[in-house]
Parts: sequence; C-alpha cells; structure tokens
Amino acid sequence: MADVYDVIVIGGGPAGYVAAIRAAQLGLKTACVEKWIDKQEKPALGGTCLNVGCIPSKALLESTELYETAKHSFPDLGINVGEVTLDVPKMISRKDKVVQELTGGIQMLFKQNGIDWLQGSGQLLADKQVKVTAHDGTDTVYDSENVIIATGSVPINLSATPLEGNIVVDSAGALDWQAVPGSVCVIGAGVIGLELGSVWRRLGSTVVLLEAQDTFLPMVDKAVAREADRAFKKQGLDIRLSTRVMGSTVKGDQVVVTYQDADGTHEQVFDKLIVAVGRRAFTDDVCASEAGVEQDERGLFHVNDHCETNVPGVYAIGDVVRGPMLAHKGSEEGVMVAERIAGENASLNYDVMPNVIYTHPEVAWVGKTEEQLKSEGIDYQVGSFPFAASGRAKAKGDTTGLVKIIRDKSNDRVVGAHLIGPSASELLAQSVLAMEFDATVEDIAHTIHAHPTLSEAMHEAALSADGRAIHIGNRKRK
Ligand code: FAD
Ligand code: AMP
Repeated sequence: MADVYDVIVIGGGPAGYVAAIRAAQLGLKTACVEKWIDKQEKPALGGTCLNVGCIPSKALLESTELYETAKHSFPDLGINVGEVTLDVPKMISRKDKVVQELTGGIQMLFKQNGIDWLQGSGQLLADKQVKVTAHDGTDTVYDSENVIIATGSVPINLSATPLEGNIVVDSAGALDWQAVPGSVCVIGAGVIGLELGSVWRRLGSTVVLLEAQDTFLPMVDKAVAREADRAFKKQGLDIRLSTRVMGSTVKGDQVVVTYQDADGTHEQVFDKLIVAVGRRAFTDDVCASEAGVEQDERGLFHVNDHCETNVPGVYAIGDVVRGPMLAHKGSEEGVMVAERIAGENASLNYDVMPNVIYTHPEVAWVGKTEEQLKSEGIDYQVGSFPFAASGRAKAKGDTTGLVKIIRDKSNDRVVGAHLIGPSASELLAQSVLAMEFDATVEDIAHTIHAHPTLSEAMHEAALSADGRAIHIGNRKRK
C-alpha cells in the first residue's frame, strides 16, 4: 500500500489537471493519474485538448488562415509579395511544438504545486482506492479521501468506415498529414468537421462535408447558421445535408465513399476521409464494478449539479458527465469540485456556457436562441448589428457576419448572444460577462466602447434593441 491522498484525479485533461491544480492550491495532498503517450512516445499531460484537440487544431487554423490571407487578400491590402508557398511539414511541426510547450507547462505546474503525477492507467476500486497500472505493467494501489474521475472522451468510430492508415482518419489523424491531399471527404458537418475541413480547404484541398441531418448547425441561432452556411459555401466548402455515409473502402492510396441522399446511393473517390461524427465518453474499465459508481447507457457517470456521483467522495467532471463536451466546461467543473472538497460552497452557472466554432468567420454563442425562448414562452427582443457597418471590420477588410443580442422583455436582462464574424470568439466574452453579472441590454448600451473596435458591434447591437443604433438605419421597435 502506497501513500494516502486527499484527492486523486484520474485523467489529466483540462478537467482533471485543473481540478488537481486547484485542489493543491487549497492545501490538499493531490495526485493525478494520466496514461497519455504523445507523438514523441513520451508520457504527457493535457489530455485531448492539449494533445489532439483544441490547441493543435487552433494552431493549424491560425497558420492556414494566415496562408490564405497572404495568398488571396494581401494584394487587396496593397501588399505584393512574391509567390506564397507552403511548407506543410513545418506547419505541422510548429503545431507539435506548441503542443509540447503547453503540455510541458502543465508538468511544471504540477511540480510547482506539489502534485504527484502517477503515470499509467487508473482504475477506481471499492472504498475510494485507486489502482494505477504503470506503463511497464506494474500495479500500485493508492488510498484517497476523494476521487475525481476525469477520463474524457474519444472519437466515435463508424464500423462502416474503419480507420485505415493515414487515409481514413479521425480528428487526431487529420492534424498530422504531411502534404496537402487533392480531395478530402469529412463525415459530419459539426464543429470539429468544419474546423478540420477549413484547415485543409485553405491549404488547397477540395473538401466535401457529408452530413446526415437536414439542418446545418442545428444548435446555432438560425440567422447565424444561415450566414455561416453562406460564408463557408462561398469559400468552397461543399456541405451536403441529408446525406448519410454508408461505408468506405480503401483502394490503393484513395478511398471510395458510399453515401445516400434523396437521389439514391452514390460513390465518390477521395484522397482522404475524416470521420468526425462526434465523441463518446471514455469510461471503459475506469471503475471496477465493486466501486459501485452509476453510469448511464452511454457510459456517462450520473452526477448532480455539483458533479457528485452516487458514491460519497467520488466525483466525475468534464466529458464523462452530462453537458457539452467543452474544455472550459470541464475545467470549471474541476475548480468547483476541488473547492467543494476543501469545504467551500462553490457552484457553476451552466446556463452561461460559451460555445465557439473557430472557422473563419468564427461562430460564437452563449445563452438561449430565439427558438428556445419561443418554446419556453419567454417574451424577448433582439438587437443586432452587421459587421459590414463596423468601421474596424471595414478597416480590417473582414466584414462578414453580425452580432445579435437577445433580452428578456420583462426585465431587460441579456438572455443570449449570437455572433458570427471576425474575432467572434473574443467578442463573445463581453456578453458572457454581462450574463454572469445579470447585466441588462441597457447596461451594455451605457458602456463606453473604444473606437474603432470590433466590440462596438456589441454596443451597437444593444443600442439597436431600442431602435437607437447609430451606424445603421433602425426599424421602429414595439
Ligand atoms: P480529455 O481532454 O479527453 O482528457 C482525459 C484524459 O484522461 C486523457 O488524457 C486520457 O489519456 C486520460 N485517461 C483516460 N482514462 C484514463 C485512465 N483510466 N487512467 C489515466 N488516465 C486516463 N473544446 C473546446 O472547449 N474548445 C475547442 O476549441 C475544442 N476543440 C476541439 C478540437 C478537436 C479536434 C477535438 C477532438 C476536441 C476539441 N474540443 C474543444 C473538446 C475538448 O478537447 C474536450 O471537451 C476536452 O478535452 C475534455 O476535457 P476532459 O479533461 O474531460 O477530457
Ligand atoms: P458533432 O457531434 O458536432 O461533432 O457533429 C457530428 C455530426 O456527424 C453530426 O451532425 C451527425 O449528424 C453527423 N453524422 C453522424 N453519422 C453520420 C453519417 N453516417 N453520415 C453523415 N453524417 C453523420
């Protein structure tokens, strides 16, 4: 029997590592079990997010957006450069360096906070004991007062389209191609499919996204989704809705994709296929049956609003529990749980959860959509402002999109914000803050915004709710 801990966290992704750091800050003796082996075949912290998710995808989105701007927009800005050329292996190795620096940074933070990293695979046994199977196969059992399960998620695979080499890949595989494919098929026009499709389209691939649903981005505000659809199609993304992929066969160095749409069954040959049909909680063997932790049919752990499972002292956070699979959601759950273990009365406002699609233009939203408000019978009012009327967006030469803010008519509180446009991910933060502070649309209208900034679009949207936006004609409001 080894040490007794106050907290053992199983999983070192953004939910788990943040929980561990916060627990250690609060003086709790903390360990984190993490089994990840990275591309360099070294143990690594950071989970999906840092290794094969949020960070590497954003590194490639950044490089490819700059490439596209340099190639296509520089002349419009009065900049003439010679031929713009690509070095894909360098782009990929820069991405890997960003990942390594950040995962190394977590390792350093663990050291600074006195957190023990137990390298290997963790399993919760009865009585909050955790068995750690090290990479060399040896088992050690640790006792803990509290255990936080944060084992995250993995891509969903389709049995009809099995992964094969670097031709049929999941989201992780699509971050590592060393050359630009001529054609790429993406199964699933969700957040991950759109981001990865954008990366390879910008580099020159013909990209087709096949989506089974008949609505594009059903979780997004309708006007924003319409604008996104228009913008992405204009860029050349071939998005086909009501199209279900039935199978794939690798032939030589290409892949034949079989799909069904309203016109029947079709086959199309591509150089690469990305399976981006969602993610599932990774909870296989994380708890021995004698641990007694309840899970649902999808493997998610049952938790209450404070991420407590049915077993006292056992918590679950991040992608293994209900709610959106987002890094910041998991991290904030980690903070909440660590603070509650330390005796604080922490809680999380799940109603104010930011969401972003990091395409260009970016799509970002928080709170309720008009459709949700209608179905809940809430009387609301919308203010909106197009980036085409923003001086800063014009100066940037980046005017696609709009800001839309929604207020509850009964009390003027902000109940939703929906954006598409330049830096929408950053602009969203002011409406998230407004909602967290229970601010009103009037509060935003009264707030001085620097000129010229993109954030003025939010100010103008708030003004427009009262029919007094300055830089657009206002419709008379009821
Ligand atoms: P994970 O990050 O999956 O971490 C879980 C960790 O637990 C892993 O390191 C795993 O090795 C470890 N583990 C599992 N089982 C065990 C075990 N038995 N013992 C020890 N260790 C174990 N979210 C955003 O918010 N913004 C984005 O921009 C974004 N972009 C994304 C892009 C892509 C391509 C992908 C795939 C995902 C993206 N996500 C994004 C989602 C985000 O990555 C996840 O929501 C987030 O990583 C979940 O955090 P987590 O800590 O719950 O799980
Ligand atoms: P997300 O859950 O945001 O990652 O999006 C995944 C998308 O993949 C969803 O919109 C699903 O409808 C879509 N999808 C799942 N299976 C298939 C399939 N066989 N063919 C086409 N699209 C699919």
